Amino acid sequence: MEDAFLNTMKYTALTDVGKKRSLNEDAYIADGKLFAVADGMGGHRAGEVASSLALEALAFALSKRAKDTLEEQLEEAVQRANKTVHDKAVRDLDRRGMGTTLTVAVPKSGKLYIGHVGDSRLYRMRDGKLIQLTRDHSLVAQMVESGHLKPEEAEIHPQRSVITRAVGGDNDIKVDIIVEEMLAGDKFLLCTDGLNTMLSDEDITEVLRDKKDLEEACRELVAWANDKGGNDNITVIMFENSKNSPGNKNRLWRS
Ligand code: MG
Repeated sequence: MEDAFLNTMKYTALTDVGKKRSLNEDAYIADGKLFAVADGMGGHRAGEVASSLALEALAFALSKRAKDTLEEQLEEAVQRANKTVHDKAVRDLDRRGMGTTLTVAVPKSGKLYIGHVGDSRLYRMRDGKLIQLTRDHSLVAQMVESGHLKPEEAEIHPQRSVITRAVGGDNDIKVDIIVEEMLAGDKFLLCTDGLNTMLSDEDITEVLRDKKDLEEACRELVAWANDKGGNDNITVIMFENSKNSPGNKNRLWRS
């Protein structure tokens, strides 16, 4: 089905091994219709296997259009990805315990459909303000939510990379499904934690305000994360709807 809205999508993606790791275990898809990042974990290159396997299974399941709504289809596709990784993790001794984060965004008819497991992030920049649309499934996020940790303490907590949900970790997983409106001028940023553990939300905001060009912004984010230490693999996808989408032409209210 043709969606004129997609013809106005601009996007770019960049992945980098960082300064401390020898392998890049992140994987991504960015093709204008589907945007996804996966941050794999597990020894013996298992993280690499988990992240790419999850994205393959996700893209295949989404291409089959088996469900009525895109929300249902996304849920099903992430569950498929989970089963695929989990089955391999159970069968293959070398891959035992592998898993991956998975955050996926599908733009359609002026809306953004999001599926999310783990601590990769989707941000939206609107009117110069950056908002994290996904909630981290991590130990520190849980501690912040329950009032046991301050957000600024979470940023430097030694266990900040421990996640509470992972694709492949169990037979069945809980997937966050979120639907957001895409307005003209909105910029979206998908990233793995190699970016947001090096850069604060304020840092990211600064780059997105300064660099209007998506590719330039992406390069600057990755370079800055590396300058600050590059402790982990860094993957960044940016996309925007460069034109007014149908349905939001009259949404410019001014008081
Ligand atoms: Mg990572």
